[in-house]
Amino acid sequence: MLLEQEREGLAAAGRRLAAGGLVIGTSGNLSARAGDLVAVTPTGGVIGELTPAMMTVLDLEGQVVEGDLAPTSEVPMHLAVYRATGAGAITHTHAVASTAIACTLEEIPVVHYAMLALGGSVRVAPYATYGTAELAAHVVTALEGRQAALLRNHGSIALGPTVEKAVGNLELTEWAAELYARCLALGTPHLLGRQAQEDVVARALADGYGTTRKL
Ligand SMILES: [Zn+2]
Repeated sequence: MLLEQEREGLAAAGRRLAAGGLVIGTSGNLSARAGDLVAVTPTGGVIGELTPAMMTVLDLEGQVVEGDLAPTSEVPMHLAVYRATGAGAITHTHAVASTAIACTLEEIPVVHYAMLALGGSVRVAPYATYGTAELAAHVVTALEGRQAALLRNHGSIALGPTVEKAVGNLELTEWAAELYARCLALGTPHLLGRQAQEDVVARALADGYGTTRKL
């Protein structure tokens, strides 16, 4: 079986996203790249119950190389993001807080320094019908310099060098969306200015933020 490790990673990612409430039923799709091949979740599959054998392997033009099930309808979006970035994996769901922001606002501004792991503010890509090349192009633009984006009236997308990182970035996006929504309910949130953001990046680079280390 091709891309065995990636298939297992996608199945585990589906379970984790379902357990965390970021995906309900079949509403999302995941992929992982290895060289010139991409493993993707099948269309119509319950994301939290997928097995490695249910994944479909495609080449970068979208031709099926291995698999019995039709791939996700969002293949154009996944392939466009792989062509435009060095991503190793992509996660997309309709997580509720992220989708609420995507239905209402233009971005999640930098209200918390943890968002800098996503590259800063999270943009909302303009609306287009799911599965289209038009949506794929909008998403690629919104992802420029970022690890995540929102899709107008649709959901969220994140990427990363590994499936685990792409899942983590989707979770971080959902957390930021929920945080920002609560901020707006309380009043007008303070945002982190450019200098404050630069100071955080400099400090995180110096001390390896987000990694454990020995005393
Ligand atoms: Zn979707």
